[in-house]
Amino acid sequence: MTARVLVVDDIFPNVKLLETKLSAEYFEVLTAMNGPDALAICEQGLCDIVLLDVMMPGMDGFEVCRRIKGNPSTAHLPVVMVTALDQPSDRLKGLDAGADDFLTKPIDDVALLARVRSLVRLKAVTDELRSRVVASRDYSIGDPLAAAAADMGLNGRLLLVDDRRSSYERLAAALGQYHSVEVDPEPHQALVKAAEGEFELVLVSLGLRDFDGLRLCSQIRSLERTRHVAVVMIAEADDRPRILRGLDIGVHDFLVRPVDRNELLARVRTQLRRKRFADKLRESVQASMELAVTDALTGLHNRRYLDGHLAAMFSDAVRRGRHLSLLVLDIDRFKRVNDTYGHDAGDEVLREFANRIRAQTRGIDLVARYGGEEVVVALPDTTFEGAHALAERIRERVEGSPFTIHRGAQSIHVTVSVGVSARQAADASAGDILKRADLALYRAKEAGRNRVVAAAA
Ligand code: GH3
Ligand code: MG
Ligand code: MG
Repeated sequence: MTARVLVVDDIFPNVKLLETKLSAEYFEVLTAMNGPDALAICEQGLCDIVLLDVMMPGMDGFEVCRRIKGNPSTAHLPVVMVTALDQPSDRLKGLDAGADDFLTKPIDDVALLARVRSLVRLKAVTDELRSRVVASRDYSIGDPLAAAAADMGLNGRLLLVDDRRSSYERLAAALGQYHSVEVDPEPHQALVKAAEGEFELVLVSLGLRDFDGLRLCSQIRSLERTRHVAVVMIAEADDRPRILRGLDIGVHDFLVRPVDRNELLARVRTQLRRKRFADKLRESVQASMELAVTDALTGLHNRRYLDGHLAAMFSDAVRRGRHLSLLVLDIDRFKRVNDTYGHDAGDEVLREFANRIRAQTRGIDLVARYGGEEVVVALPDTTFEGAHALAERIRERVEGSPFTIHRGAQSIHVTVSVGVSARQAADASAGDILKRADLALYRAKEAGRNRVVAAAA
């Protein structure tokens, strides 16, 4: 995943050094040597992420960061503050200014690429989310997406796997201010807990006494139940080979001991935000897939879905030599409901009609809105007699109690006619069964409505 990185530093050789390293990794690099120039580039939307030196004459890095985060058109840009190693208080100031992460001078190559890649991934999911919020403004899925886009990465559910008491007590105390933290010194048990789905992020010490922490990271990243959990490893500074190995196997980020408190908080927050955005995106993809096969008024499947699945149900029944029956239901004199009480009242009747059908069917039955006030029910493993009995039951439930309209202010009497048919050996497709059910429905209407008619064999 590539991105446009803005490097901001008042000292030319520093800018050049970062530009060279990032270009070598195929990032596109833009540079600025003072705050105002940097802000202008950000505002023009020319960059995806900002590496920001703290110490600059005139406007310092904190102020630049505050302005980026304070401007709605640039607030979503991730900012990495580049601080001096001997100034840990700078990181606290950076967090206050809204920085997303930190790098320490002299800049380590592994850390640089890990920070940039991690924030590029975050930016990619937030951008996707932002575009969907705009695209889905009219749909009900818009609101949770907007809420996710505003998520600050706090109140996380974290699991810390570390067996050194002095270490985990310190880490848990720092994280505990903003998140709920559970400590487990035992890696096997930790994996079981993670699989139970209670945690959003797992921090794994690579210095466990009897277990390779990297193995645990790899298990979390690969198990179906845990692969969406964020993983951050905690390593010794001299353990670069394992840090690199970890990043290779998909660990999202790392911290180096002694762990700086503010760096810890920033990194956990970024990973929580990325994970939550990604979760929301997956949900919204699923929701839009459901929208495509669902009728908005009744919540039943739509005709497109019926066409696809009825064919599959038919071939399945043929292959297994099983029954397959169909009902076609059509509300009687529905046009009159619209004409007399208005279209909205008609909609209310349709919704209630769908509910009464749903209440009589099983999970494996396919219930779809076929046309205006026509519903098809496909019943796998159901004999013709069974289907007929169900049709009669639905007819009774429709006729049996009045439908309320105008939000309960009024109620009206509604009836339904139903055609029933079942698969026969000579049928070539589901369409043949449907045709017979349609003809039976037509005869039910002709015979006076409010009745169930069986298709001729
Ligand atoms: P029949 O007993 O012969 O079925 O008579 P009918 O009036 O129910 O049948 P017809 O097919 O003549 O009319 C169906 C009506 O359904 C016409 C149409 O305006 C209405 N309709 C179709 N879709 C909707 C909808 O989504 N909402 C509402 N309120 N009405 C709809
Ligand atoms: Mg009708
Ligand atoms: Mg009709």
